[in-house]
Amino acid sequence: MQDKDALGTLNWLVEAGADEAIGEVPVNRFAAAAPMQTATPVKISLAEPVPMAVRAKPQAAGDAVGNAMALAGAATTLAELKTAMEGFDAGALKRGAANTVFADGTPEGRVMFIGEAPGRDEDRIGKPFVGRAGQLLDKMLASIGLNRSTNAYITNVINWRPPDNRDPSPEEAAMCLPFLRRHIELADPGVIVLLGAVAARHVMGISEGIMKSRGRWMEYRVADRMVPVMPTLHPAYLLRQPAHKKLAWRDLQALATKMESFGLPLGARNFGA
Ligand code: URA
Repeated sequence: MQDKDALGTLNWLVEAGADEAIGEVPVNRFAAAAPMQTATPVKISLAEPVPMAVRAKPQAAGDAVGNAMALAGAATTLAELKTAMEGFDAGALKRGAANTVFADGTPEGRVMFIGEAPGRDEDRIGKPFVGRAGQLLDKMLASIGLNRSTNAYITNVINWRPPDNRDPSPEEAAMCLPFLRRHIELADPGVIVLLGAVAARHVMGISEGIMKSRGRWMEYRVADRMVPVMPTLHPAYLLRQPAHKKLAWRDLQALATKMESFGLPLGARNFGA
C-alpha cells in the first residue's frame, strides 16, 4: 500500500464522517453468511419492474430501439452481448465515440454498479469509470471490501460517450436500455447499485431527486427473481460536493450489510486502495 494512497482514502473516509473505529475486533468477511434466497426484506420498488428477457423479433432497418432489442435478446453470454453492441449501429452517438464502453470488473461477486455514460477518459480507454470519478469509486468500493479484479462489476446506462459529455437524450437512452436489461440478466447480480439520478431514472423509473431516493432499497426483476437495488450518489457529484460523502458512506455501509446478509463475498476492507 502506498502511504499517499492510504492518506487519500483516509481523507475520503473522514470527509464521509467515518472518523472513529467502532469495532474492537476485526470482522471476518469470508465467514459463511445466510444464503441469498432466504433474505428478502426489501422495500417495494417505486416503479413497475422493467420486463426482462426481451426477445423481440428483428425490426425494420432504421429502428434503432427494435434492432437493439433483437440483438440484445439474441445474446446468450456477456461476451456475445459485448460483440453485439460493438456491431450495433447506434447512429451519431456511436460515430462520435472512440469506443464501445461495455463493462469492467467481474460479475462473479454478484454486485453490479450502473453509472450514467462514459466520459472522455472512459471513451479513450474503453472501460467505465477510469477517470477522476472512477478513482473515487474505486476508493469507495475498497472501503467495503470490493474491487474490480475480484468482486465488483461496473457498467453504464449509455455505452457511447455523448459529445461534450452532455446529458444523454431520451432517444439515446431508449436505444441503450435493451442492452442494459440484457446485460443485467446475463451478469445475474445479487445486488445492484445505481450511481446517480440518470441510472435511477432509466433503470427504476425514478423521477424524484437522487437525494430522496438514495439509500432506499427497491427491487428489480431479473428473470424469475427480484434483485435488491439501491440508488446512491454519483462519484462525480461527490467530487463537486464532498460534504455529501457522508451520505454515500452510509449507503456503502447499507450495501455491505445487504451483501453480508445474502452471503455475497466481500474482501477485507482496504482503506489504502
Ligand atoms: N461517469 C459515469 O457515469 N460513467 C463513467 O463511466 C464515467 C463517469
